[in-house]
Amino acid sequence: MADGKSKTTISRRTFLALGLGAAGIAGVASLPPLVRGAVSLGERGGGDVSLIPPFDADRAYNYLHEQCAFGPRAPGTQAHVACRDYLREHLNESVGEASLQPFTLEIPERTIPMWNVLAAHDSGNPRQILLCAHWDTRPTADEEDDPADRRRPIIGANDGASSVAVLLEIANALRKSPPPVGVRFVLFDGEDYGPGSDRMYLGAKHYASMLPEPNPEWGVLLDLVGDRDLQIWRERNSEDQAPEVNDRLFRAAREAGHSALFPDDVRWTITDDHLPLLEAGVPVVDLIDFDYPHWHTLEDTPDKCSPESLRAVGETVLHALYDA
Ligand SMILES: [Zn+2]
Repeated sequence: MADGKSKTTISRRTFLALGLGAAGIAGVASLPPLVRGAVSLGERGGGDVSLIPPFDADRAYNYLHEQCAFGPRAPGTQAHVACRDYLREHLNESVGEASLQPFTLEIPERTIPMWNVLAAHDSGNPRQILLCAHWDTRPTADEEDDPADRRRPIIGANDGASSVAVLLEIANALRKSPPPVGVRFVLFDGEDYGPGSDRMYLGAKHYASMLPEPNPEWGVLLDLVGDRDLQIWRERNSEDQAPEVNDRLFRAAREAGHSALFPDDVRWTITDDHLPLLEAGVPVVDLIDFDYPHWHTLEDTPDKCSPESLRAVGETVLHALYDA
């Protein structure tokens, strides 16, 4: 039922009615299995995985809390601007070369300013890897049952803060022991503005329209990676368009000891910030746990997330970077 649908157009009520929520995974059996057979698991890179720095999961979880402490971070609000400055300062201190990439959304009522937050580790390296996530939060809790609640903004602990928290801690880790590749951090704005897809994925579209040289070899988009009950499956668009990058990431998850949280099969077809990048020719996969019952509700709060989930994702991405 998710085939070809935007994640914003899948109703949580439908999701739960089909038995795909936390209560069970009855829908999995009906999903087509990933055909393996002669599929290669991707070339191992020349990096040295013994150099992988530790990922401080408690500090990452604290970054999740700090973002939520600003309140809902929907574009057009003071909290949005305050969080933007917090992210830029963090990346400037950890990675360096942090900058803002401004753009606007014109809607009939007003012009809404938005900013992607960028930083580059070892920007002179001819080999560049892209790590990205959206930092804005949904202005409307569309999946609430009460119509009045549906007009309220979400805090976005998982949908927004979790993925950014992982990237902020990876940024710290890279300082301790540099990987063999350059790393571009991009925090996208305007992913979740909505309500429809014409007002979504805005930062990713903007970034993809003016990619810096050289093009990244590959990339990872993180979204909804903080759920206490984490399960990240291969996402269908990623698998179809960048299977070798999925191979890299799922091998990294296994080698980092997190295969239990990364079931190596395809589930969900998600429209997300990776699609504009794939269209621009950058092989980017979406690591996303869409089995999250609090998605686009007022219940998407820090207590639904855990440091251990952030650790599993952070260590997996670090492993892939140092094995690149
Ligand atoms: Zn969302």
